[in-house]
Amino acid sequence: MKKTTFIYLSILCIIFSGCSISRPDTIMQISTIDSLIAGNYDGHMSCGELLQNGDFGLGTFQGLDGEMVVLDGKIYQIKADGNVYSPDLNTGSPFASICDFKPEKTVTIENKTDFKAMEDIIDMASPNKNLFCAIRIDGDFSFMETRSVPAQRKPYSPLSEITKNQPRFKMRNISGTIVGFRCPPFVKGLNVPGYHLHFLSKDRTKGGHILSFETKNAECKIDICNGFYMVLPKDDDVFGGTDLTKNRNADLQKIEK
Ligand SMILES: [Zn+2]
Repeated sequence: MKKTTFIYLSILCIIFSGCSISRPDTIMQISTIDSLIAGNYDGHMSCGELLQNGDFGLGTFQGLDGEMVVLDGKIYQIKADGNVYSPDLNTGSPFASICDFKPEKTVTIENKTDFKAMEDIIDMASPNKNLFCAIRIDGDFSFMETRSVPAQRKPYSPLSEITKNQPRFKMRNISGTIVGFRCPPFVKGLNVPGYHLHFLSKDRTKGGHILSFETKNAECKIDICNGFYMVLPKDDDVFGGTDLTKNRNADLQKIEK
């Protein structure tokens, strides 16, 4: 290979690796759910860096300032006032999961399908529960109930204390997109085993962490993922000093519902 060709190819590699570092069928995650439950709300990766790892996902923000939806390569922040914001790309995230969404399956969802019935439909379409699924459901919903969380100041309280007084939002006859994941049972302590779904309305004005819903017309797309890549906070004494030997499953159940 000519020297000039080699230099040209090297420059191209550097340029493209700077744009995206996402891996196919792989969910990239920042920190662990147990670290978040323990009250570690400082951001470890910026929203900008997060977007280099995918175009689809969910999470939360620096200081637990609202629920995150990543959809079609854009990040949305649903704050405790119920409104949707576009966060600065320098804003950090203490916990998020993201992937490049490339669905393998599409399922038409019938009228009056609720959260539990939706789980059964996705489990039928993707029966291997030891793999991850990224899930996107676009459509009209007769009912949608979400929550968000208020921004916190130090010293941070554990997540189970904060979600006791979480603002809830009830929406009727709303169009939008559900964004989320089904994680395998063995991610206990790392992520949320089972289903974790967030919502963003079609007009991008409402959303949050989903508590319950019922569909009218909807379509579910599933991306089955067999890769899991986790990035831990490296130079963080708080994370380093957090006791992560405890089983926080009971707290997680309370927080999710
Ligand atoms: Zn959530």
